[in-house]
Amino acid sequence: MYLPDFEYYAPDSLKEACNILAQYGSRAKVIAGGTDVLPKMKQDIIAPEVLLSLKNLSQLTDIFYEKGNGTIIGSRATHNDLVNSPVLQEKYLSICEAAHHMANNQVRNRGTVGGNIVNAVPSADLPPILIALGAIVKLVGTGGERTVPLEEFFNGPGNTVIKQDEILTEIILPDQPFTGSTYMKFGLRRSGALAVVGVAAAVVMDGDICKDARIVLGAVAPVPIRAKKAEELLKGKSVTDGFLEEVGVCAAGESKPISDIRGSAEYRRDMVQVFTKRALKKAIQEGHC
Ligand SMILES: Cc1cc2nc3c(=O)[nH]c(=O)nc-3n(C[C@H](O)[C@H](O)[C@H](O)COP(=O)(O)OP(=O)(O)OC[C@H]3O[C@@H](n4cnc5c(N)ncnc54)[C@H](O)[C@@H]3O)c2cc1C
Repeated sequence: MYLPDFEYYAPDSLKEACNILAQYGSRAKVIAGGTDVLPKMKQDIIAPEVLLSLKNLSQLTDIFYEKGNGTIIGSRATHNDLVNSPVLQEKYLSICEAAHHMANNQVRNRGTVGGNIVNAVPSADLPPILIALGAIVKLVGTGGERTVPLEEFFNGPGNTVIKQDEILTEIILPDQPFTGSTYMKFGLRRSGALAVVGVAAAVVMDGDICKDARIVLGAVAPVPIRAKKAEELLKGKSVTDGFLEEVGVCAAGESKPISDIRGSAEYRRDMVQVFTKRALKKAIQEGHC
C-alpha cells in the first residue's frame, strides 16, 4: 500500500495555511499527526491533491493556563503531550488519564487532540471528557476567528461545523467549579482498542449533595451526547450507591447506540448503565478534576 502523489505544504503562519486551504478547497486536507489521514490515503479511502501540514505552527502545541481565560490546549498537542502536561496534571487529571488509555505509545506520540476532534469519529476518546469540562474550540480561517462550544461542533460521523479554510487552533477550558471528573472507556481489549462505550462525568459536590453534573456518552450515538435527563436527576440530590444505579439506567435510556462488529446496541446500552455509575462514583469519590 503506497501513498498516492500529492502536493505538500508546511507553512510557517496560520494566515498562509488558511489561504492555501481556501485556494485548493476540497482538494486540500489538513494533516497534523497523520495517524488517520495517512492510513486512509494508503487504503485509497481519501485522495487529497494537497496535504497542508501544521508541523511548523509550533505555537499550536502549547498547553497553558491564563487567568481569566482558563486552560488552553493547542490543537497540535499530542496525546502524550496531554498525559505529560504539568498544567493538566494539576487541573484536569481526567484528561491526562483519558489520553493515557488511548491507542498505543506510537500513536500517542503522533496523534493530536485537534485530529481526534476534527476526525469526528463517534468512538473518539477525547471529545466526551472535553465536553463534560465545558470545552470551547477556536477555529481560525481566512475570514477571521470564531469560537464554538465543543458540544455543538459535531454534526454526525466525520462531519463537523468546521469550514474548508478553517483550522482548529485551540481547545479552551474556562474555569468551572467542578470538584471531580473522569472518563471511563470500555473496549474489547485492555489497551489499543477503540471504545465500545465511553462515559465522561464532571460533578460539583457539596458534601453528599450533587449540586451540578455533566454526563457525556461516547460511541453510543452519531456524535458525543450529553445525558441531560440523568444530569437533572442528579442535581440537588444526596448521592448513594442505589441512586447512582438509577442515574445509570436513565443515561442508558438516553443513548442511541447501533449494533456493529464491536457490540450490539443492547449490550452497549447495558454498558452505558454500568459505566455511568462507575464514572460518577469515581468523579465523586476521587474529588479531583
Ligand atoms: C492504531 C491506532 C489506534 C488508535 N486508537 C485510538 C483510540 O484508542 N482512541 C481514539 O480516540 N482514537 C484512536 N485512533 C485514531 C487517531 O489516532 C486519533 O483520532 C488521533 O487523535 C488523530 O489525530 P492526528 O493528529 O493523527 O490526525 P490526522 O490524521 O492528522 O487528521 C485527522 C483529521 O483531522 C483533520 N485535522 C487534524 N488536525 C486539524 C486541525 N488542527 N484543524 C483542522 N483539521 C484538522 C485532518 O484534516 C483529518 O481530517 C487510533 C488510530 C490508530 C492508527
